[in-house]
Parts: sequence; structure tokens; C-alpha cells
Amino acid sequence: MDHTNSNFIRNIIKNDLETKKRDHVVTRFPPEPNGYLHIGHAKSIVINFGLADDFNGKTNLRFDDTNPLKEDTEYVNAIKEDVEWLGYDWDGLFFASDYFQEMYDRAVLLINKGKAYVDDLSQEEIRQYRGTLTETGKDSPYRNRAIVENLDLFERMRNGEFANGEKVLRAKIDMSSPNINMRDPVIYRIAHATHHNTGDTWCIYPMYAFAHPLEDAIEGVTHSLCTTEFEDQRPLYNWVVAECEMEHVPEQTEFGRLNITNTVMSKRKLKQLVDEKIVDGWDDPRMPTISGLRRRGYTPEAIREFVKETGVSKGAGEVDSQMLDYFVREDLKMKAPRTMGIIRPLKVVITNYPEGQTEWLDAEINPENPDMGKRQIPFSREIYIEQEDFMENPPKKYFRLYPGNEVRLKHAYFIKCEEVIKDPEGNVIEIHCTYDPETKSGTGFTGRKVKGTIHWVEASQAIPAEFRLYEPLLLKEDSNEEEGEEKTFLDQINPHSMQVLNGYVEPTMKAIQVQEKFQFFRHGYFNVDPKDSTKEKPVFNLTVSLKSSFKL
Ligand code: ATP
Ligand code: MG
Repeated sequence: MDHTNSNFIRNIIKNDLETKKRDHVVTRFPPEPNGYLHIGHAKSIVINFGLADDFNGKTNLRFDDTNPLKEDTEYVNAIKEDVEWLGYDWDGLFFASDYFQEMYDRAVLLINKGKAYVDDLSQEEIRQYRGTLTETGKDSPYRNRAIVENLDLFERMRNGEFANGEKVLRAKIDMSSPNINMRDPVIYRIAHATHHNTGDTWCIYPMYAFAHPLEDAIEGVTHSLCTTEFEDQRPLYNWVVAECEMEHVPEQTEFGRLNITNTVMSKRKLKQLVDEKIVDGWDDPRMPTISGLRRRGYTPEAIREFVKETGVSKGAGEVDSQMLDYFVREDLKMKAPRTMGIIRPLKVVITNYPEGQTEWLDAEINPENPDMGKRQIPFSREIYIEQEDFMENPPKKYFRLYPGNEVRLKHAYFIKCEEVIKDPEGNVIEIHCTYDPETKSGTGFTGRKVKGTIHWVEASQAIPAEFRLYEPLLLKEDSNEEEGEEKTFLDQINPHSMQVLNGYVEPTMKAIQVQEKFQFFRHGYFNVDPKDSTKEKPVFNLTVSLKSSFKL
């Protein structure tokens, strides 16, 4: 990120340094390891790492693993891989669970100060007692338990004497606060569950609102950046830091989350797609996860530039998904070698080309980037073209192959359609053409013009390949996260979000590696699938097509 590109958080940090309120900057990216990262997380990553970088600060990767029921080491590893792939190095690697003892001790401190109590009300009762925006809360009958009794009960909670939900520890703040978060929030709950890091050491776990400020304070985080849904929690955040008597005082600032049209961005929903096998795992190329985007062919550069372009503000606008496509095209335009691939093959026999002869034609690897040099592609009597590049009875303005018409074969010759071969059912199985040796590409032939240029692959050396074409996973716009709309969300699944086709690619692609990216002439940018591609049969994922109406 660049200094001149100011945003309100950068201004806050700059001011904190200038006024000597702070003399250094520490940020953190704090994912909960309960799923894979998605493109929304990339925004938080770019902001946290980018701002610290700008001020020579440090950024920690901290796993906010305080809920053993949902968290897993698989997610921890995937998150690390994704952050690294996006191009960021963390300074400290921490787990909230490493602080469980300290958090427990701070909770005991609160009890000793008369600032926390053990409550026997059920979850439902606590909800009822809490009141609403217009109605003040009601004290729990257990609110005024003696400190010694609270200490004893809390210790017994820790020792496993109670079942899940039987008791909780609550902060004692203000049941009539206009901010509902301050109405004695639950800060510890009982969960008899095995934790991915601490195993069975604990059966009580701190709640996010209590744990998060302590984690920031313990790590010396100066600027704790989160999304605006935590704005109402800021008074509680400050209360926890102050009442727990933390030496270091971090400060929370909120920014608007990233929302993208037609894109689900909630781990809970993404997990549902995985669990119900609607997609092939978290890294399915249709998923907006970082691993899905990687497998689809998006580059870290494109994702970072996209996220920077969306800016940092308090508002949570919705960004057009085409903007991300724009950035990947921009990035791949210079980098991706050009090649030809046939997705729906139709055999063409060039009847006047000598049998058994092969010639090698020069083709530029990337006309936008001549430094990439040239490749040689074979040409002979039999080639494949796209089915859609031939029509027996074409409409007006169809300039590709049809009986009697002549087109240019990219990098090769003009060919003219002479005969259509059909099977007994009347399906076209082969086209017979003639070529004109005078028209060879690169020889400066000007004798006559043709209106259409089509691509092709020489048949005898063509490599069979699988092409996976994608459409949005969701049919209608949906990116918000209101509760209780699962039904509409799954109803919106596009049944045609993936199409698998078998075709051919140039023999120049014999030695390609997984994750290599190409621009297939006229089709778009494709990525070699890291899971299913083999040497014998490469698999290409469509990243983006070439067409775009989007303008920045
Ligand atoms: P989800 O709702 O998808 O589960 P989350 O916020 O619960 O996301 P966390 O693992 O808690 O996921 O998020 C880690 C960090 O990423 C948090 O600071 C969170 O605010 C931020 N983050 C998550 N989603 C977005 C988003 N769409 N835009 C910007 N930041 C986000
Ligand atoms: Mg969360």
C-alpha cells in the first residue's frame, strides 16, 4: 500500500504517532479457525498487514480459537497457507488458547473486584432478562451472590462439576445500559469438548467479547481493526481491558466489511455448501474462498489490487464481482502465455494438404509482451476447430466457416469449406476444406481478405484435455448474512455452475505444471487444476472469459 493513498484508519495511526500517543504500531489478523478464509478476509489481511507495513510496524497472525466445538487444525493449516500465498509474513504466530490460564486468572480478578458473578439462569432466561432496545434489562436473581461463593462456583465450573449450560460467568456491568452488550454479558461458558490445541485441559471457555480484548492486550496490539458489526462492542472491549487491569491498552477501530454481488461471504454458509456436497470442498473453484480462487486461477496480485481498490471506510457497500475479474485480467494480460485450445471439437480434413506432411508454424507467445518470445505449433492435413465456428446454414453476418466460405486459421492459412460429412442421423461429423498455400500467415499475403479468424489445433499431436467452465454458484444477488434465510440461500444455487467439456490443446502444452495460467485464444484465461490435472490429461479451470463490460 502506498502512503499517499490515505484512509481514515491510516490517519488515526499517523495522528497517534505524531501526538506520541503511540511510539510503534502492532496490528493483528485474528481469524477463528472454524473454516477457510474467503475474499472478505483478504480485505482484513490487506488492511492489517498493509497499515503495519506503512508505519514499520508488526502484524501478528492470531487464531481466535476459543470455541472448541467448531475449530480444527485443518483450518489452522489452511489459513496459514492462504495468508502466505496472499504474500504476507506474520511477525508473531499466536493462539488465543495459549492465554486460557491468563484469561481465567483475569476472570478471577473480576470476581474478586465484585465485577463478575456466576449465574444459574439458562441461556433462554438470560435472553429474556436482558430486555430489548426499548425495554431495560432485569437483574438475575443470582446477580448479588457473595464474592466467595462466586469464586467457589467458578472454580468448580473449571473443575468440571457442572454440565454444559448449567452455569455461566457474567460480567457485572449495567442491566439498564442503553447498549445491550453492556447488560452483564456472559464471559465464560461450560463446554465439555476437546479443544484442537488444549485437548481436555479446559471445560470452560471464554466468550469472544471477553477473550478478544485480552488477546489484543496480551500481545501488545496497538490498533485492533475489525468490521463495523463490532462497533457496539467497543465499550465492552474497553471495559474488559480496564477492569482486568491490563498493562497494555489496545484500541479498537472498525471499518466496513467487504460485500460482493452474487457472492456468499459467511463461513457458516460456505461450510454448509461443503458439508452438503454442493461443491467439491472448500477449494472448489466456484467458492469465494482464497483456496477456491487460487484453484480457479486468480493471482495474489489481482486479489490484493482488487481489495485495495475497494478502499477503507466505515460504510459497507457492495462491490461488483466483475471488478475482481477486471483485476485478474489486468494481471494475467502480461503474464499468461497465449495458446490455442478446442473446447468442443469438430474435425476438419484439409483435402489438398499432402498426406503425412507436418510443418511447424511460428506463433507469438504473448503479443502484449513480445519478450516472451515465440512457440512453434504443428500444422497438417487434419485439425480440430470449435463446433461453433462452423454452421451449415448460417444467419447473416456469420463470418466463420460455412459451405463455400473462406476463413483464416490463426497463425496458419486460409481454408475454404468444401464439403460437410454427416453420420446416418444427419449429425455433422467432419468438414472437408481446401487450403491456399499462398495465404500463409506472416508472409504478407494481401491477395484477398477474409472476415473471420478462427483457432484450431493440429489433430495428430493434439493433447486431450478437460475444460471446466464456471458460472456463478448463486443465481440471484445475495451477500448479506441475515439469520434464518438458509432456505432462500440454498434455493439460489445455480444448477449449471460447472460445465465439464473434453477437447484438445496444442502439443506445446506437454510439460505444463499445475497452477500454470494460460490465455486460450478467444476463450479466456485458464488455470491448470492442482488436484485433478495429469500429464496425460491436463484439466483447465476457466478463471475469467475475455469479454468484459466492466470499467474501473
Ligand atoms: P464469517 O462471518 O465469514 O464467519 P468472521 O468475521 O466470523 O467471518 P473471523 O475468522 O472471525 O470470521 O474473521 C477474521 C477477521 O476477518 C475479522 O477481523 C473479521 O472482521 C474480518 N472479516 C471477515 N469477513 C470480512 C469481510 N467480508 N470484510 C472485511 N473483513 C472481514
Ligand atoms: Mg467470527
